[in-house]
Amino acid sequence: MERRPRTLLWQMGLLLMAIQVLIAIVIGVVLVSEARHFYEEERVEELKQLTPWTTAFIESTGLESAALQSAVDRICAQTPGLRITVIASDGKVIVDSLESASAMDNHRFRPEVAVAIEEGSGHISRFSSTLEQDMLYYAVVVTNENKEPLFVVRTAVSMQVINTRITKLTTFIAGVLLVSLIITLLGIYLVSSWLSRRVSFLVRGGRRFASGALNHRIELPGIRELDLLAESLNQMASELETRMEMLQVQQGEVQAILQSMSNGVIALDLEGHVLSMNRAALTMLELMGREVRGHLLEEFVRDPALDGFVRLALGRAEHQFSELKLRSLGGRVMEVTGEPLFDSEDQVSGVLILLNEITHIRQLERIRTDFAANVSHELRTPIMSIQGYAELVREEKDPEQRDKYMEIVLRNIRRLSAIIEDLLSLARLEEPGSSRGLERESLVVYELLHGVRRDCMEQAQLRSIDISVEVASELKVEGNRELLHQALANLLINAVRYSEPDDEVMLLANKSPNGQIVIAVSDTGPGIAKKHLSRIFERFYRVDKGRSRQIGGTGLGLAIVKHIARVHGGSTDVVSEVGVGSQFSIYLPAGY
Ligand code: ADP
Repeated sequence: MERRPRTLLWQMGLLLMAIQVLIAIVIGVVLVSEARHFYEEERVEELKQLTPWTTAFIESTGLESAALQSAVDRICAQTPGLRITVIASDGKVIVDSLESASAMDNHRFRPEVAVAIEEGSGHISRFSSTLEQDMLYYAVVVTNENKEPLFVVRTAVSMQVINTRITKLTTFIAGVLLVSLIITLLGIYLVSSWLSRRVSFLVRGGRRFASGALNHRIELPGIRELDLLAESLNQMASELETRMEMLQVQQGEVQAILQSMSNGVIALDLEGHVLSMNRAALTMLELMGREVRGHLLEEFVRDPALDGFVRLALGRAEHQFSELKLRSLGGRVMEVTGEPLFDSEDQVSGVLILLNEITHIRQLERIRTDFAANVSHELRTPIMSIQGYAELVREEKDPEQRDKYMEIVLRNIRRLSAIIEDLLSLARLEEPGSSRGLERESLVVYELLHGVRRDCMEQAQLRSIDISVEVASELKVEGNRELLHQALANLLINAVRYSEPDDEVMLLANKSPNGQIVIAVSDTGPGIAKKHLSRIFERFYRVDKGRSRQIGGTGLGLAIVKHIARVHGGSTDVVSEVGVGSQFSIYLPAGY
């Protein structure tokens, strides 16, 4: 487990207390030794002052034992606590105020005596082995006229009083130290909690910054250094906030650009995991609503062509371009570009795949090519026929046979003219602005449908087909009368042509839920297989070419219907089932 570091105050407190104890010891030692010295000096002074008088008194006894003893005793009686020892110059104790001299050992080498003999006087405080306590000794040597030592007078007082005072002083210093330590501790505690309250502003602020609340500002703790720190942190947060906002704006812009691009953009990492994919790419690859980020593209799109391209782009790390037909996506055609992605250190970090769907363009190209081929083919067939039969007419002598040929020539001319008429209709409808320049009026659908019915009735009756109309009389549609008539007639003629004799064809009209008017032509004819339905409105597209020609179709009828609906801002629709019948619908804006 990681050890938590000690707080600054704890460490400072420890140091402070150590310094305090050290100072107290030094002061104590100095003070005690000074005090001891002072008291000793004081006592020594007292003893010194006593000495001349004592010495004179002792000398007056002629050092006679009994007289000396009584003199010493008398001096000591006058000064309580005083001890006097008279020592011969050889160290032998002559008399002592407290002990029997004979019982005392030689004092020549007692420190104070030795110093006195050397220097004239000496003093010391030491433990007295005779009295078994601390004593302060002052010894002075008495000499004759020749400065030869005669004897030593040693006065002594007990150190007990001094020791008691020193002990009191030491106790006092220790007490002061204790109190000061307690005050220090208390001070440290107060400063520590006060400081930690101040620091906690910073800590809390820092945590809020870390959690992302960069708009938060730390309250100034009220201590200059901490205020500076708080201000720096606030400034840092504000700068970070500005930068984050800038980054977010930039990111938002990039995202917006990416998302609004009509081209698909996919970013992959080096392993092929999706880093991001814009909406267009999701739509193109039919992945809308799927969470693709972090997954391999092949998990979602199992297409060998796309897989191969991605692998190539990842492997080569250079510009790649290809046109792919994605069979897994119904044969959609895409222009795919691969560009290497670089990180901040200019290292390849993945690949950017750009998708440009050109299915529609390719479809249009195909339709255009098909159309050109179809037009040539459709026109050539009747022309060839006309040419051939016209030559036969020229050479034919038999008028009956000639009439027959002429009839074929005429039929082909009619067909040619029908095709050209339809092509011209289509060209007009395709003209730019044909929708805007269209003359429109509000038409009663009932009348429109009955008009169309009237015009087709003859052809229907030839095949014993009945045409019924089901429409609410108040229904109105906004459009061009002639064009809508043409579109509905095309649908109705188809229905009549493809129905069996005695069938019934219906013209229906309704309002769709989105407010449009839907006009439908429904039959019970052969129906159309599903695979043809998506192409049925293309020019010259026919399910059964032979039959279409036989019944006089140009193959352009439905294309014209689709274009008429389109110039009205509407659309077309077909529902059909083989063997059941078909229903073609046109959706148009409602009239008023
Ligand atoms: P056409 O002149 O050949 O009828 P259209 O463009 O009108 O050309 O129709 C295209 C093709 O759609 C037709 O050739 C036919 O195969 C099919 N078709 C159109 N209407 C019907 C219908 N009511 N029932 C069955 N097939 C139809």
